[in-house]
Amino acid sequence: MGLGCEKRRLVVIGGGVAGSLIAKSLQFHADLTLIDQKEYFEIPWASLRTMVEPSVGERSVINHRDYLTNARIITSSAINISETEVLTGEGRLVPYDYLVIATGHTDPTIPKTRTERLKQYKEENEKIDLASSILIVGGGPTGVELAAEIAVDFPDKKLTLVHNGSRLLQFIGQKASDKTLNWLASKKVEVMLEKSVSLDNISNGNSTSYRTSDGETLNADCHFLCTAKSLGSTWLKHTVLESNLDSYGRLMVDENLRVKGNQTRIFGTETCFSGCKELEIVNGRRKRKQTGNIQTSFSKGNCITWEKGCSGTITIHNHYWKCSWID
Ligand SMILES: Cc1cc2nc3c(=O)[nH]c(=O)nc-3n(C[C@H](O)[C@H](O)[C@H](O)COP(=O)(O)OP(=O)(O)OC[C@H]3O[C@@H](n4cnc5c(N)ncnc54)[C@H](O)[C@@H]3O)c2cc1C
Repeated sequence: MGLGCEKRRLVVIGGGVAGSLIAKSLQFHADLTLIDQKEYFEIPWASLRTMVEPSVGERSVINHRDYLTNARIITSSAINISETEVLTGEGRLVPYDYLVIATGHTDPTIPKTRTERLKQYKEENEKIDLASSILIVGGGPTGVELAAEIAVDFPDKKLTLVHNGSRLLQFIGQKASDKTLNWLASKKVEVMLEKSVSLDNISNGNSTSYRTSDGETLNADCHFLCTAKSLGSTWLKHTVLESNLDSYGRLMVDENLRVKGNQTRIFGTETCFSGCKELEIVNGRRKRKQTGNIQTSFSKGNCITWEKGCSGTITIHNHYWKCSWID
């Protein structure tokens, strides 16, 4: 950066995989502010392992402050934006030259601090530990992965997985669904397809009674709800980006992740795609390429320099189950 040049103000909203990677990569090239609802980054695909082995959380839940040494961190929700500023839930106006919206998905049950998150994992682990029978609602990746984690570490628990679709993991092929079903069956997990469970009127006795959509009663000591999380872009509905949302409320971006339309300084990450697309797209090569695009566009302003290519902070291998964080 040349003398007398002001660094461009980059605001990143959302401290998930995309937002944290972008913030970490660009913190020395911009005047950077990260706005996230929570104080920490968490590796999402370690979360279900952490429920059965809480010590994993010590490594997978990382305070933003620990890797963002040259950035401002605001722990709050973004609730509105204008062409030049972001408004946070606590009433702060944060000016920007460039904006990255990486709000992916949102979950109101996730606590604000790392300490509370680790405590939550311990409580979930105790819940599993104390139960003899467990009901898992939802047969997408989260429900299947949680069932697998519990089945492996707690083989004596009676596990039931109820899914309203005709097959597990519907976003991938039939062969993978069949393999998954067979594997769970081999671990004695009872899988009920094309059924749903109402969690409104559950009755408590020695164990809890749940009623399925076809009137059957299921007894289990506890349950875990593993259905889809809410989209993190709904807050954009009444903002200047209202017309940039698709019919599902997802932010539409072009191939360079620029918000579609006439915005050249606002970027959205791929979580504006849903479900399978999201999983398919988050692989190392693609992720680095896309972050690279943001860096390229961002560097077009005066006085911004950055080293070509991504410095490889998070590597998500092209294999669904593996990831690593590289400093
Ligand atoms: C259990 C599980 C296992 C997974 N396994 C894999 C896997 O093995 N491999 C793989 O590639 N992918 C996997 N995924 C998917 C992967 O985690 C997602 O694709 C990825 O997290 C998307 O990253 P993101 O940063 O775009 O969004 P998110 O991770 O959803 O992050 C969004 C961030 O924005 C914040 N936020 C939301 N709204 C606001 C707001 N208004 N203001 C401020 N902050 C806000 C949230 O607090 C959060 O920090 C898995 C997901 C889960 C849940």
